[in-house]
Amino acid sequence: MRSYFYAIGLGSNRRHGRHGSPASVVRAAIAALDRCDIRVTAVSPVITTPALGPAGRSFANAAVMVETCLDPPILLDRIKAIEAAFGRRRGRRWGPRVIDLDILLWSEGAYRGGRRLSVPHRCVQLRDFVLKPLVALAADWRVGPGALTVRHARRRLIRRAG
Ligand code: ATP
Ligand code: CA
Ligand code: CA
Repeated sequence: MRSYFYAIGLGSNRRHGRHGSPASVVRAAIAALDRCDIRVTAVSPVITTPALGPAGRSFANAAVMVETCLDPPILLDRIKAIEAAFGRRRGRRWGPRVIDLDILLWSEGAYRGGRRLSVPHRCVQLRDFVLKPLVALAADWRVGPGALTVRHARRRLIRRAG
């Protein structure tokens, strides 16, 4: 059976009762992903951004490469099930969340499934906390058809931010 590769981004900015800090939550979610028909083939370093001030939240982000026979919509169901198992409640976008998993890139290029699923993830090129771990795994992958490589997209983002 043919298999695909996907880059998946993970983020946490909330402690978990059992797993602990956001960085530990990210590591636990990677272990949860590496089951049965999904094989994690590469893991980026976990990037942590310490909380600013007493009310701030620390962030942890990472990316992984997985190999699987699952199609994009089925993989999305799996990652949503992992989010639910970690106690993530839906509804509040960008609020504090115990874990967020996004499908960033797919070895087959683009998948257009409307608002429910669009790959590459539409914000890949805009976020350094996504591109930075991704460079460690997939520097030469393209972030869209005929588009920049991950390495190039990150250089451009940094240049524009500076
Ligand atoms: P952002 O999408 O800006 O990173 P978010 O990850 O916080 O924000 P969610 O609430 O986790 O947003 O996701 C909203 C919906 O986006 C999901 O229910 C999912 O169906 C959809 N979605 C579309 N494309 C993707 C993708 N590539 N990976 C994961 N979810 C996606
Ligand atoms: Ca996200
Ligand atoms: Ca998400």
